Amino acid sequence: MARINDNYLKLAAGYLFPEISRRVDAFRESHPDAAIIPLGIGDVVLPLPQSVRDAMHRAVDELGTDEGFRGYGPYEGYDFLREAIAEGDFRSRGVEVSPDEIFVSDGSKCDSANIQEIFAQSATIAVPDPVYPVYVDTNVMAGRTGVADADGRYQGIEYLPCTEQNGFLPEPPSRPVDLVYLCFPNNPTGAVADRAALGRWVAWARENGAVLLFDAAYELYIGEPELPHSIYEIEGARECAIEFRSFSKSAGFTGVRCGYVVIPRELEGRDESGRAVGLHGLWARRSNTKFNGASYPVQCGAAAVYTDAGRREILANRDYYMANARQIRQGLDELGFTVYGGVNAPYVWLKTPGGAGSWDFFDAMLERANVVGTPGAGFGACGEGFFRLSAFGREDAIKEAIDRIRQAFGS
Ligand SMILES: *Cc1c(COP(=O)(O)O)cnc(C)c1O
Repeated sequence: MARINDNYLKLAAGYLFPEISRRVDAFRESHPDAAIIPLGIGDVVLPLPQSVRDAMHRAVDELGTDEGFRGYGPYEGYDFLREAIAEGDFRSRGVEVSPDEIFVSDGSKCDSANIQEIFAQSATIAVPDPVYPVYVDTNVMAGRTGVADADGRYQGIEYLPCTEQNGFLPEPPSRPVDLVYLCFPNNPTGAVADRAALGRWVAWARENGAVLLFDAAYELYIGEPELPHSIYEIEGARECAIEFRSFSKSAGFTGVRCGYVVIPRELEGRDESGRAVGLHGLWARRSNTKFNGASYPVQCGAAAVYTDAGRREILANRDYYMANARQIRQGLDELGFTVYGGVNAPYVWLKTPGGAGSWDFFDAMLERANVVGTPGAGFGACGEGFFRLSAFGREDAIKEAIDRIRQAFGS
């Protein structure tokens, strides 16, 4: 028999969402008439914008003609899209990112999962706690950790607690590490970092020769005008940070699939002998070996997001979800819950009442209100005692969910 990668066996048993499904299925079985409202998994519900669909239709038709047919495209993405991104996401905010520093992909999950490959096996990593599980699990699979303890924390990973006390903004670690994953606006806590907080991270990374892996999948949801949208809005970040962006949550692309990574030319790591090596070249090499590019119609759809009509449509969808977030926040607040997030992010992070365990609260919410959320403990030990509700739902479903929570938990 072929020898397997034993690191996979270290992965803490149930991944969060399968366990949620298991409990929901069991509940459905015993309560076949319950109309369950899913506010657990972070998936969008509004249909794809018209301008995106029009661009994709045109692209498909083009591919059906002799003149317009295209086979393999550039593995790093078409220039028309990379230029639209450089202008629309960066130059328009006063940030200089060159189109050739942008690598278009089929989504941020893959990018944030794969980026660790260009770093040493011995690279040390730090992650916020709670955290998007992809960052941790991919490093476990790659063999950078020991086994998990009872709380699901792996030996060899530095966890950065995100708590009520620090406003869910982790501080840089006290000892140097090579890679730090950061995500703002944050999934799951809904926290967002201001300039001062990101400035501290950039200063620390430069002092310690660390690389920040900055996941900005929820950038569009930033509402407060003074907040930075990109890590590159911070002076010096080009020498210490990689940024991930996705069209999933901004333009409803969770099923269409498109995202991108920015790797500035200045960003360097070091080889075994201590010599500086550009990370841009390593990622380019990796991409052209392992990836053949996102599909042409999808990239045309993504480019349409940067047209005036496209921009208007995605902002309208964002406003729809953020109105939901406000409803959830307000409803829970009136019931006396302690709530965080939901202002610059489509997630509300609530404290479980009476110090209930987050899985117990999950069960109570399911049984008493027939509402599915996500237990905070599923995102890390520091998520215990918290619960995530997503604003990605239909307005009427959100209203109904809040009414039911009021009936179930109101005094
Ligand atoms: C949804 C999400 C993404 C986007 O993933 P895609 O693969 O682009 O759909 C990235 N990071 C976080 C933290 C997310 O929640």
